[in-house]
Amino acid sequence: MNRTDQFTCPVSHDGRAPAVQNSRSFPIRNKTAPSAARLAKLGLARAFDFVLHLPLRYEDETALTPIRAAQPGIAAQIEGIVSASEITLKPRRQWCLTLVDRRGDTAQLRFFHFYSAQVKQFEAGVRLRALGEIRKAFSGPEMVHPTMRIITENTPLPNTLTPVYPASQGVGQAWLRRAIDQALADTPLPEILPETLQAEIIVPLRLPSLADAVAFLHRPDANADTGALAERTHPAWLRIKFEELLAQQLSLKRAHLARRQIRAPRMPRATHADTLSSRIERALPFALTRAQQRVRDEISADLAAPYPMQRLLQGDVGSGKTVIAALAAAQAIEAGYQVALMAPTELLAEQHLRQLRGWFEPCGAPPVWLAGRLKDSEKRAALRAIATGAARFVIGTHAMIQSAVEFMQLGLAIIDEQHRFGVEQRLALRAKAQRGGKVSNEQPHQLMMSATPIPRSLAMSYYADLDISALDELPPGRTLVLTRLISHARRDEVIARIRAAARARRQIYWVCPLIEESEALQLQTALDTFAALCAALPKLRIGLIHGRLKPAEKTIVMEQFMRNEIQLLVATTVIEVGVDVPNASLMIIEHAERFGLAQLHQLRGRVGRGHQTSVCLLLYAPPLSRAAYARLRTMREIQDGFEIAQRDLEIRGPGEFLGARQSGAAMLRFADIRRDACLIQPARRAAERLLHAWPEQAEQQLDRWLGRRAHYLKV
Ligand code: ADP
Ligand code: MG
Repeated sequence: MNRTDQFTCPVSHDGRAPAVQNSRSFPIRNKTAPSAARLAKLGLARAFDFVLHLPLRYEDETALTPIRAAQPGIAAQIEGIVSASEITLKPRRQWCLTLVDRRGDTAQLRFFHFYSAQVKQFEAGVRLRALGEIRKAFSGPEMVHPTMRIITENTPLPNTLTPVYPASQGVGQAWLRRAIDQALADTPLPEILPETLQAEIIVPLRLPSLADAVAFLHRPDANADTGALAERTHPAWLRIKFEELLAQQLSLKRAHLARRQIRAPRMPRATHADTLSSRIERALPFALTRAQQRVRDEISADLAAPYPMQRLLQGDVGSGKTVIAALAAAQAIEAGYQVALMAPTELLAEQHLRQLRGWFEPCGAPPVWLAGRLKDSEKRAALRAIATGAARFVIGTHAMIQSAVEFMQLGLAIIDEQHRFGVEQRLALRAKAQRGGKVSNEQPHQLMMSATPIPRSLAMSYYADLDISALDELPPGRTLVLTRLISHARRDEVIARIRAAARARRQIYWVCPLIEESEALQLQTALDTFAALCAALPKLRIGLIHGRLKPAEKTIVMEQFMRNEIQLLVATTVIEVGVDVPNASLMIIEHAERFGLAQLHQLRGRVGRGHQTSVCLLLYAPPLSRAAYARLRTMREIQDGFEIAQRDLEIRGPGEFLGARQSGAAMLRFADIRRDACLIQPARRAAERLLHAWPEQAEQQLDRWLGRRAHYLKV
């Protein structure tokens, strides 16, 4: 056991008198150490934890202000002698002290919450310093709930700012200050926090040593840049955040390297010209975009490697991810392996089936369908085909991760709209390869597709263990989707636009409002909307699709919509992901203010897929909240999914994007992906350098910051 582990909670004094903080953390109550359980809640156990318990902010007790010079609204410290102390009951119970300073000016110190022990301690004649904001009351200057400190005539002023630590019930500020002082005094900081980074790394970044940074943050000089401290942009803070981000990068890099030790089937692209993938490519009614070619090649190279691919394909709605999935599948099938394509909804899975069947069937590799509601006999047949390997390409929903499903030799698992799936579901699909016949100790390659772009800073931090491909180019001929905000009072105009669009043989989506609290209410609203639109537009062929329809019924409606037998489709958010009907060019979203940015972007992505100009009308019910207005305005101004995601990150923070990786957010305590994005790239480079040149320090770094917190990386 080293010295730092033996650290015990202090009882001794640091020379400074204890402070009363808003009278709640009274020193008498803090004489005994808080229980270990309470400390554990704050993450405090070892000396290491105490020295890394960094201040939230500071109080400036380094200077005194005469009472007459104190400005209202600005924190000031006054010093004087208590000339009177009394408790009055009117207008409400309060304790009032009169303080007289050197110049003979007086101020009232007022407390509405206090303990009798305090009153006893701060009796008349006591000399004290009080820190707070002066306000000019009717009876003269006063401070409400100042921080008070008993002193003697020659108690020196501190020459550093006073830290205010994150405290909690039962672990008070005064006690924390003493405990942390003690921890800092007991062992030299460089022993608790030995430097792991070479000068070569930190000097160019102008970062101080870790020990210096921590020492400074606990006791900044009186003349320190308080703005930078408050903003946490001071080099000392940057060093701490850099440490964390570096540890995160190291763990992700290590996870990435570890995957190279796992075996996966090698499925190189065949060299002859008549391969399945080249036949499919030739059969496409369009040429691949440059972005698609690049991504296809990236994936193709991964599939040829003897370790499992784990690639995230990001592409805005409509960027053409399905073709990429098809070409990857073809390469795997041709190499003699099975492919599974899993989509989050039956609607979407069916659309894939329809499209991919058209490409694969003529080439002799018809996809097999596997979803929840197959007839028993059909299901048995599908399962048999999958187990014997007769089914090369399986398309379906999460039904394919049920235990009855056994693949003969799964080589590639493709997950569409991956953010819709949980961690377990993704792991379960991957685990399917570990059962079947000859590839039992191998993992399949994994391709995850997502139309919810992850902002760059997040991708570089939380997703750094994945390889990422981006389809950053839309197929040619796409037009912008004109987006308008319209108050729902102007519904008549909207109806007129629908009529005009239908006359021009265009198709229209009407998205019903999201009612999160009640699925029943949401359904009712959809039925009402459908009835109202049928009445308003008697000549139109109108269809309705919602989550309560049976899958077969949904399919019928979608097929009618695709054939333009339905002109106006009234829908709930079931059409949010993936649905592709190029002739639809007008979308109305009712109560758009209730939707999130990502969802609006997904919905809007259903139009603008054909050659005609598309329009998206965001109907809203005024008055709009600020946040709702910000979202709608973002939608009106921005088309690009990556940019929208960036805005979303700014508005809502990273939690929303992380989904399954949310637990990883615990990895960062001090760094903030939004504000500290500029540190990520340097941390990335430093992580590479460290792993190559100083693996021991890398280990130490990981251990120090993450301990055992990195298991979530397995997905
Ligand atoms: P998403 O990335 O949203 O899944 P899809 O794969 O559904 O997009 O593709 C959207 C539409 O674009 C489909 O109709 C598809 O056939 C078409 N498409 C894909 N790639 C191209 C291309 N290179 N040129 C023209 N159209 C394309
Ligand atoms: Mg798609």
